[in-house]
Amino acid sequence: MRKLLMLGLFVVSGLQGCYSQTGQQKKNTMDSANNKKNEAYSRTDTGKVVMSNDEWKKILPADVYTIAREKGTERPYTSKFEDFKEVGTYYCAACGNALFKSDTKFESGCGWPSFYEPISKSSIIYAPDHTHGMDRTEVMCGRCKAHLGHVFNDGPPPTGLRYCINGVVLDFEKAKAAAENYKNKH
Ligand SMILES: [Zn+2]
Repeated sequence: MRKLLMLGLFVVSGLQGCYSQTGQQKKNTMDSANNKKNEAYSRTDTGKVVMSNDEWKKILPADVYTIAREKGTERPYTSKFEDFKEVGTYYCAACGNALFKSDTKFESGCGWPSFYEPISKSSIIYAPDHTHGMDRTEVMCGRCKAHLGHVFNDGPPPTGLRYCINGVVLDFEKAKAAAENYKNKH
């Protein structure tokens, strides 16, 4: 039986330090509810994004900001990606960094989108998290350090890992090649 993990539903703020801007001025492909463009968002640029939370707050939708920059946690079973089976790639909703491929997604039953492997070693960074009386490993975006969720060692083969990710901080793009293969075969 899969161990059910109680994730804190509280927003933990104040953990982020102050960062100075390095000036990533890349094309904006983000569909944001507010008017200000997210200049850091790029699915092709791999350069690190370093911005203050004040700057992030201006360009990110409120729900993305709360999780990405204040290490919040979305309520379980609320993500559109929790029971989502399209073939494609998941990106960081804050900066566009490629994070996971759909073929590493699995049904964990934990209430959050779950993957057993990131797209590459550099796509994710890890940090020990001892908040809420638990010893967990936090996972963050390797490009912009957005909080994504946690990784646990009760996942399926081949890695045995379960990356438990807040769907709010994920963007999804369907695989064009996969769609074309399907068309050719049918
Ligand atoms: Zn990011």
